[in-house]
Amino acid sequence: MEIRDYEYILIPNILEKYKCSMSGECCQSKWRIDIDEQSYLETKKNLEKQKEDIDTYMGKHESGAYVSKFANGYCKLITEDKKCRVHQEFGWECLSDTCKIYPRNLKLTSRGMEIGMGFSCRSSAKLLLSKEKFYIKKIKKEDYFFMKPRSVSFIIPENNLKTEISSRYYELEQMAIDILNLDENLYVKLQYLEKLISELYGANIEEYDFKESVEKFKEFIPSVPNNENLEDEIVRIILEKQKRSKAVGIYYINLLRLIGLNRNLEMDKKILASDSFTLTKSELDELKKVWKEDYNTILQNYFLCLTFNKEMYYNPEYFMMKATMLTIFLKFRIMLNTKYLGRELTEAELIYTIKSHDEDLAHDGEFFSEFYKAKCDEKVNISELTKTLLTLIA
Ligand code: SF4
Repeated sequence: MEIRDYEYILIPNILEKYKCSMSGECCQSKWRIDIDEQSYLETKKNLEKQKEDIDTYMGKHESGAYVSKFANGYCKLITEDKKCRVHQEFGWECLSDTCKIYPRNLKLTSRGMEIGMGFSCRSSAKLLLSKEKFYIKKIKKEDYFFMKPRSVSFIIPENNLKTEISSRYYELEQMAIDILNLDENLYVKLQYLEKLISELYGANIEEYDFKESVEKFKEFIPSVPNNENLEDEIVRIILEKQKRSKAVGIYYINLLRLIGLNRNLEMDKKILASDSFTLTKSELDELKKVWKEDYNTILQNYFLCLTFNKEMYYNPEYFMMKATMLTIFLKFRIMLNTKYLGRELTEAELIYTIKSHDEDLAHDGEFFSEFYKAKCDEKVNISELTKTLLTLIA
């Protein structure tokens, strides 16, 4: 299927209103901004015409190129007034796909061009505050503008064996959306979804009734939250993340130490001088007291948008673990920041917290795949791990 052949755009209603604020913040990202081969070559050609060297602006790695950055984190191709030089001087066709579509996440499916989103951008992070009920909107492609990338990955569920979960992906996705849209407690809904997903692995996929599973939510008896090892799992995740990104690990560690301060110099000296940090059950319970129930809508919207990003297509168990980790860490970060400030976050602070969380965790896909692989190698029951993590939402 050629990229121009699709007829419809599918986009979650809450994301349809996305509008770039032209802040240039995304060109100062912490993650590596990859540049595709064609964009690299065209930029090189254009720079050479101006007697400039591509090596000043881009580096190379095993599988492609990436933008070089100034010490302040900005891409070297940004102008003083925060405009992209490639776009401005060489035309938008010259831009790499990453820069063209950010923060969107595109997948071409048999339904059309499906547009999900990342939230490491304040304009997209703000959309998670929406109180509207989430649904997938289908729009004629002529009625929705976005910069077309050169290539996009494909998902064709119908091409899979009828015995594979992926062959009924659309129904699975809709089931997750329908469950999350129920007017019920978020923790219970996620617990039910986790149960259904783990049961799918032994189910007869051809005959599975996704709609009936949503109906049966009424009969679901949720288990009492068992947060026996929750604080240990959170600390383990922070330490694992610290191995890949010292700054992110230290950010969490410092916040945990800071919120433990007693505002008593003698007592606090010890905490500040210590290299270690703790997270005990009672500290976690204290932290949970600052949570506003109102914010559950943000978590629900976040989980729903992660669902629409299609990772569930490839491995539902992995998706459930990853989306749970991301969602509980979003809650954890909001709670930490609230506790640290000693007051409710303003809307701008809340949006910044969402953006920073997504930037630090969601962009590092390898972290989650390696974490999952290591757990599988250790023969950890992923479903049990996910259930433990989910209890932070209880
Ligand atoms: S190439 Fe342009 S759009 Fe991409 S990161 Fe650099 S300045 Fe930003």
